[in-house]
Amino acid sequence: MQKLFFLTNVSHELRTPLNAILGFSQLLRMDAKLNESCKQQVLKIEQAGRLLLDLVNDLIDLGRVESGKLQFNVEMIAIDPLIKDMLRIFQSMAEEKGIALTYQSDLSDIATVRADSARLRQVLTNLLSNAIKYNRPHGNITLVCQRCANKIRISVIDTGIGVPFHLQQRIFNSFDRLGREGGKIEGVGIGLSICKHITEAMGGNIGFNSIEGEGSTFWIEFPANQPVNNIMSHRDASLSREFSKPVLNTELHLLLVEDNEINQLLACAILEKIGYTVDVVENGAKAVEAVRNKAYDLVLMDCLMPVMDGYEATRIIRRNETGSGKHIPIIAMTANAMTSDREACLSAGMDDYLAKPIDFSQLESTLNRWLRKN
Ligand code: ADP
Repeated sequence: MQKLFFLTNVSHELRTPLNAILGFSQLLRMDAKLNESCKQQVLKIEQAGRLLLDLVNDLIDLGRVESGKLQFNVEMIAIDPLIKDMLRIFQSMAEEKGIALTYQSDLSDIATVRADSARLRQVLTNLLSNAIKYNRPHGNITLVCQRCANKIRISVIDTGIGVPFHLQQRIFNSFDRLGREGGKIEGVGIGLSICKHITEAMGGNIGFNSIEGEGSTFWIEFPANQPVNNIMSHRDASLSREFSKPVLNTELHLLLVEDNEINQLLACAILEKIGYTVDVVENGAKAVEAVRNKAYDLVLMDCLMPVMDGYEATRIIRRNETGSGKHIPIIAMTANAMTSDREACLSAGMDDYLAKPIDFSQLESTLNRWLRKN
């Protein structure tokens, strides 16, 4: 437990330098002057940084689940759009490894479960990543959703290497890779332990069966709800907004609210590279002032800042907009990658959420989504 406490604290400290490593390597990779072999080397730095970031995030989560500090926002979630969204993300990853990913469901489009949407995504991300990682070349993955009595079961079935029977009772132990440490497949053995904690904390169950050399089925089960219309998570709602006409980036003025100098430098470099005009202020109070004095097209808002934080600034900006018919898109950019932080941003009046370290393509697509005119 003490070891975990130490790791969790160190992990928090690792996020800021990682932000710089990931951000600047993404930026460098786009530099036209860089030759192909340098680009490949920078790509390796970026990939290694990303692995490190996943590990850091997992360690932070493990620390929180084991100390009971993980917060959940359990609500009714429409299962079909969530699964389809996950499949979109994983389809290309599976294809890259020559693995076929298919979906079967006997649920209606509006079937719902009681769970925390972001945490459910996290569990499925882990199970699907493992199903890819531990698969064989040209293998298959089938994602199956079915109703079992008053529960909904989601199964991830792979045709991979499987788990030897005598090791199966250890599979949900933290830091246990069941003898795969030192092998070619990367990992630290905490993903499934986190999945078990999260699933059970949301009132669900997790289990698996496996035959060595043939494959594995990992499943999670949650209480089902009566079908309800119009249930959509915030993310799904924002994704389904219909935007049409693209506009030229240079016409658009963004306000970046960020107190950390390295993050300012990085975000500005990225935004200017995409072609936006950017003003920077270092706290929420200055952001309120800036928005009052200039008609910005969008605000990128850090959350924790001295003088006035991003939540308070957003609340004031929204209050000032009351009755004006205006609604400036405010996107949170924060190192706090927890679900509860996302909810706090949305309930303060922000429209969307980006976790730091900033992912270049995620930033670009989020901006495109909010800046294209109707
Ligand atoms: P990691 O993948 O980082 O090692 P996990 O906690 O996700 O950690 O998994 C623990 C161990 O369980 C893995 O090291 C692997 O030996 C085994 N395992 C997990 N998923 C699968 C799977 N789909 N097929 C075969 N083995 C698996």
